[in-house]
Amino acid sequence: MKVIQHTAKTLHNALVSNSHDLVQIYDKYTKEEKLLLEDGYRAGQTGSLFQPITVHSDSDWISAHPEEPQDFQSFYRDRHRKIPSASCNTVYIQTIGSFGEAGVDTDQYVEWLRDYCQAFFHGLSVKSLPAVSVSDTQCSFRVNSNSHNLQILTGDLLQFLRRKKPKDAFCIIGITMIDLYPKDSWNFVFGQASLSEGMGVFSFARYDDNFNSKCYAGRLTKQLQPKQGDYSVFEGYYTPPITSMLLLRSCKTMTHEIGHMFGIRHCQWLNCIMQGSNHLEESDRRPLDLCPICLHKLHVSLGFDIADRYKALLSWMEEGQSQTSGLHCFHEHPWEYPSFAFGTVILF
Ligand SMILES: [Zn+2]
Ligand SMILES: [Zn+2]
Repeated sequence: MKVIQHTAKTLHNALVSNSHDLVQIYDKYTKEEKLLLEDGYRAGQTGSLFQPITVHSDSDWISAHPEEPQDFQSFYRDRHRKIPSASCNTVYIQTIGSFGEAGVDTDQYVEWLRDYCQAFFHGLSVKSLPAVSVSDTQCSFRVNSNSHNLQILTGDLLQFLRRKKPKDAFCIIGITMIDLYPKDSWNFVFGQASLSEGMGVFSFARYDDNFNSKCYAGRLTKQLQPKQGDYSVFEGYYTPPITSMLLLRSCKTMTHEIGHMFGIRHCQWLNCIMQGSNHLEESDRRPLDLCPICLHKLHVSLGFDIADRYKALLSWMEEGQSQTSGLHCFHEHPWEYPSFAFGTVILF
């Protein structure tokens, strides 16, 4: 395991830079806000809120995908980065296909995900569009010849989202519990996005703990060869059980991917939700929140009050606890309150 320990000077340059106009932007923060942001310089030390990045193996993102690190200056000067405008300031979530087995749980799950994104991107409006079935998208699909599960073609889903994208959308994110593939020669893909068009589609199918097990219920019999255009095979098709762990993983994916829509690239500074991830174990290792450098990037894009954003995230966790304690199905389903899986990564 290798720890990527940047010096305080390097982190200061990445956060503030030496450029006069950017120093002026940074100086608008209050003393308390600077105290929080500069706590990143002490990452890993006793009492620090932040941790350095640890690389566990050659299959981790940083080893497998060398990229140019993006400091605040290169983010701010990027002409292609996106800022919500008064007329395009809503993030839309479009669910595709069935989510879970019980209607009431499904709606609650999507609602929690929506509320979480709204707290995370404080100041942006996040709305969920009415659910659509797989057949509504008229997408191509296949049965994977190795794993024998159903998969849908990402390009077709992006076409569908392009047609559905409302005029006031900052971006539209499609989510599905069905596995995805980007082209015939690929085994699978977690998701695909077009940053310039502000849209992306992501699957949570592989967040199911049983996905790789022999008894995975999403495997079809080898004889079954569904015809293209006959979507009846999706009716009653297995989707992962909705648990707080699935919610946690979905919240992480959504905020990471929406973060890209602003032009924030993979973080190589500190432990951060914007770190790239190559596999589920690495994705689980990522923290929920942004490091100070990525927080500064988001702040300059949205202009929220930093303390208010943390209060909104905290209130999301507390509301989830009070809501679920009243759910009748609480003991019948593998539901805990949404923050259950967040217990070890409390934000403060
Ligand atoms: Zn990414
Ligand atoms: Zn970061």
